[in-house]
Amino acid sequence: MLIVGLTGGIGAGKSTVAELLASHGAAIVDVDALGREIIAPGGTAVEPVLERFGDQLRGPDGGVDRPALASIVFNDPDELAALNEISHPAINDLLDQRIESIGTAEGTGVVVLDMAVLTESTLGRDTRFPYEVVVTVEAPPDVRLERLIERGMSADDAKARLASQATDEQRREVSNFVIHNGGGTDELADATAQLWDALQRLARERAT
Ligand code: ADP
Repeated sequence: MLIVGLTGGIGAGKSTVAELLASHGAAIVDVDALGREIIAPGGTAVEPVLERFGDQLRGPDGGVDRPALASIVFNDPDELAALNEISHPAINDLLDQRIESIGTAEGTGVVVLDMAVLTESTLGRDTRFPYEVVVTVEAPPDVRLERLIERGMSADDAKARLASQATDEQRREVSNFVIHNGGGTDELADATAQLWDALQRLARERAT
């Protein structure tokens, strides 16, 4: 099994590449969704988060009120660090469980961790099955902005999200593969098909 960390700035096309890789046969784990799962009703981080940030954040369904939590940690690095200290180990535990169950299923042997936050944390690294290869999807900032606005985000929100993330340079530094997605969807499909060939080669080498 080859475990791949797939990342990229918002609007770069990371989710689109994940979908394309899935169509080639990769197993995808949406790490951002795991972050929501741990604080949803019954999630392992619900009680620790409420203990740290206050029971007023308990939603009517018993999970954590995410918008309220987001407003506490947004623009407050200390509060964000406190949240990450609780959430990241919980996400990594869930990630291990997911990878373990994929490992026993049929598949091409390539597991892709779709994760917006990679360079900034130990998500997907402090695990029993850490990623071994990193792929970054890149697109010029003006193209990303345009795509986000097209997707329904306000220009101000889109700019704030772009500014709050790691830079392409930071991502490139830890990447084994970079996909440039400044062009059209056909070009992206071709680039992803080439990436898929390379990943499969690596997975086969790993298996022998
Ligand atoms: P991310 O997951 O990196 O935030 P997405 O894959 O969701 O980005 O892409 C952002 C938006 O841009 C989506 O609406 C997607 O369909 C669109 N998109 C992605 N790549 C291209 C492309 N090469 N040409 C046109 N639109 C694209």
